[in-house]
Amino acid sequence: MKDLILKHALVNAIEHDGKAEIQAVLKKLIAEDPSVRNKIKDVIKEISKVVNEVNKTSVEEQMRKLEALGVKIEKKSQEEKYELPELPGAKIGKVVTAFPPEPSKYLHLGASKAALVNFTYAKKYKGKFILRFEDSNPELAKKEYYKIIMDGLKWLGIKWGKMDYLSDHIPEYYKTVEQILSKNLAYVCTCRQEDIKRKREAGEVCIHRMQSIEENLKMWNKMAKMKEGEAIVRLKIDMQHPNSTMRDPAIIRIIDAPHPRTKNKFRLWPVYDFATSMLDIWEGVTHRVRSKEFELRKELQQHIQKILGAKSPYIIEIGRFNIEGIPSSGRIIREMIETKQLSGWDDPRLTTIVALKRRGFVPKAITEFLISTGVTKTEAVLTWEPLEAENRKMIDLKANRYFAVLNPEEITIRNPPKIKFVDVPLHPGNKEKTRKISVTKNIFVEGNDFEKYQNNEVGLINRGTVVLKKDAKYISSEIKFESQKIQWVPQKNTKIKIVMPDGSTKEGIAENNVKKLKVNQLIQLVRIGFCRVDKVDKDIVLYYSHK
Ligand SMILES: [Zn+2]
Repeated sequence: MKDLILKHALVNAIEHDGKAEIQAVLKKLIAEDPSVRNKIKDVIKEISKVVNEVNKTSVEEQMRKLEALGVKIEKKSQEEKYELPELPGAKIGKVVTAFPPEPSKYLHLGASKAALVNFTYAKKYKGKFILRFEDSNPELAKKEYYKIIMDGLKWLGIKWGKMDYLSDHIPEYYKTVEQILSKNLAYVCTCRQEDIKRKREAGEVCIHRMQSIEENLKMWNKMAKMKEGEAIVRLKIDMQHPNSTMRDPAIIRIIDAPHPRTKNKFRLWPVYDFATSMLDIWEGVTHRVRSKEFELRKELQQHIQKILGAKSPYIIEIGRFNIEGIPSSGRIIREMIETKQLSGWDDPRLTTIVALKRRGFVPKAITEFLISTGVTKTEAVLTWEPLEAENRKMIDLKANRYFAVLNPEEITIRNPPKIKFVDVPLHPGNKEKTRKISVTKNIFVEGNDFEKYQNNEVGLINRGTVVLKKDAKYISSEIKFESQKIQWVPQKNTKIKIVMPDGSTKEGIAENNVKKLKVNQLIQLVRIGFCRVDKVDKDIVLYYSHK
């Protein structure tokens, strides 16, 4: 038995930076020999002795001892991490990638993944990553979103080597349109929108397609004085093309709304495919990783680049992804906020970066999670679990612990020792930093615990063993290893509110130390879960992160 305990203690220690844990060793032992359960008290005593000895030695020493027992172990390396696949045709120092958000909504998980992957590739090949604002629709682009998107990216640790605004390139677009018109590769069409749509579906051409180059240029020069919807410039491709985006698509249209950056200076705005493919050329983008939803548009964009004699960037499509049941469309979220179904863009039910931040997710957990989902075309519907697991891993070691109960049940402790307070470690991994919790005769425990463990011996964490009932009997200041341990809150306490991931709010009470918390601090309410401190004044508001 002794050798078996030593073996498991050594293995556990080596796997955890030289520190074995009694409980982990016990579990392994029971798994190997279930009869251990019959003499658990003695075994635990023995384990704790062995673990104590083992933990005093270095990992090297532990490995030597383990070998002496005839067991060989590879030191556990870092968990296997997903690595981005190589980019085709990528040369060190020559890779240019871009992330082109429209400044019309908050950054969410899916878009952040595109940004992160493009950024990571540029970094990997010592190239350049461009943040490009595709603000070609003055009706959708809003001033505040430029900053919101930049803040979101910065917070995630995504840095750009260059920032570009589509709206800075309008004169270049006009020059390009003239060039295309002069080559007879486009025409100005003044058909009504319904007619264009109908003919596009039927595969029929309109009369404007036969106009001469001179006529087209003349109309182009007048377009800036025409009314919205009166004319568009269309590429001359093929009205019967099997890919409907290729059926003489519009490249320029008239929009009267003032633009957040250029105000009323321009009325003629490039349409998405033309806009984005030209910027790829002008910025010298070599590779772009983007969502698969643009797949059908690739042919058109490459066509535009080709007629201008430019080389198309290498496109890698990744599956659109989001967490199951969570809206990510800006339009839908906006509507839900307007109708008060959501509290805002940072509502805890959303996967916008602001919402994740408010809920207590740390940037590194988000980026590790995003990269781990891989660069594949498969549409991924994910659950919160892997993201929560990643976050838990990162904050567990830092989050200080506090006691709180959500459904308080008051009990009285009979004959407690006469002490005024207990010193409780702020974190189980660091016994030196402590907090004081006042010791009162009457305390509160969780209602569910009271129901479940009534009349049983339970360990009030850091306080001692009692028989749990309204009039609880104090047994000792020791808590047995195998006892159920529960948190408690003294009679003088602080009210807290916890905003849950489903948007609801729970109320509870906590030890008074929570009054000293700082906004944004990440903590763990013992046996409840991790939370981010959202507000500390008259009210203490926490946002629940996860278990
Ligand atoms: Zn027409």
